[in-house]
Amino acid sequence: MGHVIAIDGPAGAGKSTIARLVAEKLGYIYIDTGAMYRAIAVWSSRTMTAAGDAHRLEQLAISAEIELLPGRRVRLNGEDVTDAIRTPDISALASQIASIGAVRAALVSKQRQIAENSNVVMEGRDIGSVVFPDARVKIFLDADPAERVRRRAAEQPGEHPGALTAQIAERDQRDRSRAESPLVQAPDATYLDSTGMTQQQVEDEILRIVRARISNGKAGSVADAPGQASSAAGETR
Ligand code: C5P
Repeated sequence: MGHVIAIDGPAGAGKSTIARLVAEKLGYIYIDTGAMYRAIAVWSSRTMTAAGDAHRLEQLAISAEIELLPGRRVRLNGEDVTDAIRTPDISALASQIASIGAVRAALVSKQRQIAENSNVVMEGRDIGSVVFPDARVKIFLDADPAERVRRRAAEQPGEHPGALTAQIAERDQRDRSRAESPLVQAPDATYLDSTGMTQQQVEDEILRIVRARISNGKAGSVADAPGQASSAAGETR
């Protein structure tokens, strides 16, 4: 298995941007596991599958061909769903179906396959706690709620801040309180509160933690790797 750097945390903590930058620096593959749950949500919405139909949703999750491509592009069964997975409705639906154990099992198995032969920076909610409990590096990236809403608002300028606050609070609450793989900090994860930190400071801090954990003389694995292929396709079939 390759090296795994797990970055978990609540919505809007800045995981995606930082995970992508860190992966680029290290020459690792960047995997956004939230995009996988979102892709299943898009498919379930199109097929009008009820959010409570665990059996059918499990079948969708098992048979979905999800490709995570450079530039955060996402393909589902060959179709580009990059924009479709980012709507507020799909955010909410993804969080609902993510509470179904059988859906999680199907996607976790795809996530483990990806890391079998590659070094990855994988971000989500349960990467350090469940998917890769033996990950070399685990970061729990947090920020205070107002800051997380500000960051999301910058990404989605059309969205009303009040609506975003409510959406994020509802999703966090569901993600933290579900029975299956809730959002928790793994006991051996490093907690990083990025409130008030610049992107560069967060990136530097994570790279410092990574180097401290992995620098075992095999410098090639964590050396700065400018120009190396980075967020290459994360093929998840
Ligand atoms: O990370 P993102 O906000 O795109 O994730 C969408 C939803 O997918 C989350 O609210 C969460 O419910 C679910 N998710 C999860 N486990 C992961 C990644 C995402 O439950 N590893």
